[in-house]
Amino acid sequence: MEDAVLKDLREKMIVRQLIPRGISCKNVLDAFKKVPRHHFVPDEMQDRSYDDYPLPIGSHQTISQPYMVALMTQSLGLKGGEKVLEIGTGSGYQTAILAEIAKEVYSVERIAELSEHAKKILDNIGYENITLEVGDGTLGWPEYAPYDAIIVTAGAPGVPESLAAQLKDGGRLVIPIGSAFTQALTVIEKKDGQLRTEEVCGCAFVPLVGKEGWAQ
Ligand code: SAM
Repeated sequence: MEDAVLKDLREKMIVRQLIPRGISCKNVLDAFKKVPRHHFVPDEMQDRSYDDYPLPIGSHQTISQPYMVALMTQSLGLKGGEKVLEIGTGSGYQTAILAEIAKEVYSVERIAELSEHAKKILDNIGYENITLEVGDGTLGWPEYAPYDAIIVTAGAPGVPESLAAQLKDGGRLVIPIGSAFTQALTVIEKKDGQLRTEEVCGCAFVPLVGKEGWAQ
């Protein structure tokens, strides 16, 4: 598809799917305008890149629905300048959205093939503030902790203790919590060492598999 057509589809996605559902943060909308989502989906699905649902990316995983990516990003409350940890790099699309807003993004993916593919795409676009790692993200990434914000893009049975420990005081953790099939999108704020929890909406993510998540 031509670049102009894809740009038009991207603008329609913002106007039809995001703004009417309450995505209003300028930095989030600006990031969505900029990031070419069609680079992150398999070639044969390019014409569906800006549609209102998740798409398969291989290894039984998905690139999340655009609205869910926007809602999770908005829920982090980023102002710019933050250090963010993402668990579940997947296609790398959410990583790119975060990198448009935050100063540094660290992202962990358990499936090496997906992480390597995401790295190629992110490098081609030219991001220099993203660091990727292959491993069990339920344990976080202690080397660069603490983080101003943490986002988990897979469904967890509860809050992984390691992630709560690696969150800065005053920071937010956005994570789907529930069963292996459906979850509540949950925003956790750390204040004076205490965790305050708020459920935003229902959602359905692939399982977070790891030591502090679901068993394989
Ligand atoms: N944010 C991604 C995107 O925009 O394409 C979508 C991610 S997909 C819904 C969830 C990802 O979490 C999958 O790629 C899966 O392999 C990964 N995942 C599951 N458990 C994980 C773990 N313990 N550590 C790191 N990644 C994990």
